Amino acid sequence: MSSVTVVDHPAAGSLLVKLRDEMTHPSDFRVAAAHLGAVLAIEATRDVPTTVRTVKTPLGEASVSVPGVPLVAVPVLRAGLGLLPGVHSVLPDIPVGMVGLERHADTKEPREYYRKAPSLENAWVLLLEPMLATGGSASSAVAQMWREGAAGVTVLAVVGTQIAIDRIIDENPATNIVVAAIDPLLDENAYIVPGLGDFGDRVFGTPH
Ligand code: URA
Repeated sequence: MSSVTVVDHPAAGSLLVKLRDEMTHPSDFRVAAAHLGAVLAIEATRDVPTTVRTVKTPLGEASVSVPGVPLVAVPVLRAGLGLLPGVHSVLPDIPVGMVGLERHADTKEPREYYRKAPSLENAWVLLLEPMLATGGSASSAVAQMWREGAAGVTVLAVVGTQIAIDRIIDENPATNIVVAAIDPLLDENAYIVPGLGDFGDRVFGTPH
């Protein structure tokens, strides 16, 4: 069963407003992106299978519910890297894989140009893809995660369109999506409107 969660929380909103504001400087953008990555990671792991661990405290024994499956974070290069510090802040031990996708000049289909990832067999993948515009690249990355034996795939995004979300779920039915906002439009260059501009350029301070 797939799920789509729009994070409806004022703390997420106050980070999102910084990310959307065209006046936000790259250094502030980077910090807000990382913090939102933490919020998204917490929401994305809410329903992962859990197990109970018992630890000795200075005063006794406590049982704590922790993830019961291996988690793997996979940022899609390069924008996904902007969410990674926040994911690491709440899941410090999570292993990280990387995937690079580009649009093939002729076919316009997403083509993988880089991949380095630990085994995804029976792992729960948190795919970090901040902007779900058409959903093409995210959907192809998600399909690959399932092919590699993932037990679950959750896409963490900042802004998505309904078209992209529908496409990812239609093409990969058991996938979960956690997104901070859904925007109505795409422009002729497949940028989300109102969106926040080019996430990668804004995180890395590269002029667009
Ligand atoms: N990628 C971005 O960085 N921004 C968009 O609006 C769409 C895709």
